[in-house]
Amino acid sequence: EKILAIETSCDETAAAVVEGGTTLLSNVVATQMEIHQKFGGVVPELASRHHIEQITIVIEEALNEAKVTMEEIDAIAVTEGPGLVGALLIGVNAAKTLAFAHQKPLIGVHHIAGHIYANRLEQEFQFPLLSLVVSGGHTELILMKEHGDYEIIGETRDDAAGEAYDKVAKALDLPYPGGPVIDQLAHEGEETYDFPRSWLEKGSFDFSFSGLKTAVVNQIHQLKQKNEPISKANIAASFQASVVDVLVEKTYQAAQQYGVKQLIVAGGVSANRALRKSIEEKFEGTDIAVSIPPLYLCTDNAAMIGAAASIQYHKDEYAKLDLNAQPGLMIEK
Ligand code: ATP
Ligand code: MG
Ligand code: FE
Repeated sequence: EKILAIETSCDETAAAVVEGGTTLLSNVVATQMEIHQKFGGVVPELASRHHIEQITIVIEEALNEAKVTMEEIDAIAVTEGPGLVGALLIGVNAAKTLAFAHQKPLIGVHHIAGHIYANRLEQEFQFPLLSLVVSGGHTELILMKEHGDYEIIGETRDDAAGEAYDKVAKALDLPYPGGPVIDQLAHEGEETYDFPRSWLEKGSFDFSFSGLKTAVVNQIHQLKQKNEPISKANIAASFQASVVDVLVEKTYQAAQQYGVKQLIVAGGVSANRALRKSIEEKFEGTDIAVSIPPLYLCTDNAAMIGAAASIQYHKDEYAKLDLNAQPGLMIEK
């Protein structure tokens, strides 16, 4: 089947055509990064306005690139949540309009299910599967025993990993989004600061990044007060080492405890070079298959929404035309 998928949950206006849940026919992303950069973060009202301006263009481009007409599309999928309500609504309304006008089934997709299923465009899933979801709003370990079945076995108690990157970048006067910039700087620096690792209680698969963020901010403050030079690269390297250590160790423990066959990394932070390298090294020699998306599928896109929607299509999990944006949608049933 061919699914036209739409994603507008944050600051990317995206549309894609995915065939059979595994083959990408087109993947168009209009990013608003530069617009929000001036403000140091995503401004919801601006995001909605730009989604409205871009959505029709992006959908047309996705169909053109895939060389398919609306008649050849079997279902329309859209991110229904979580995300910014005003941003989500643009995609949801576009999808409902197309579904109604062309008499196609409508599928509402969870954004994080999308991030996970980005991996299925590269490699078939093997269950039980563990997914480390690390994005701007989420940090979770999700266990899947079959397609479309999600159990959260650990999650952040405060900041998400991507959020920590963005906040530390801000403290270092670096542009938004902070992840890619810190990734690059860390590469040039050395781990000269001993920032805390937040392991929490023994056996817990939860995460916490706010203490680390505070430690980094305090360190910058101290250096400023003593008029000492601030090596952004070394601070970035030390911060990143702490984040990656905890993410990788907890993921490894969970993968062992649940006896999974596959490990998936998902979400914007899975673009991080140190995390990718460290995960690969840690799981090398185990019989757990590791899947990390190519960079263009790590951050928000609609291809991943189409991939997740395919599972729902085969289960006849359709939405009604009164589908609404759900900013706080949960992934667990
Ligand atoms: P969510 O998916 O939780 O709703 P989101 O859609 O805003 O949130 P994503 O688009 O998945 O988040 O990811 C964006 C986040 O990924 C940002 O916080 C950004 O800083 C981070 N990020 C992107 N590239 C990198 C990188 N190379 N290293 C670390 N973090 C990165
Ligand atoms: Mg984004
Ligand atoms: Fe996302």
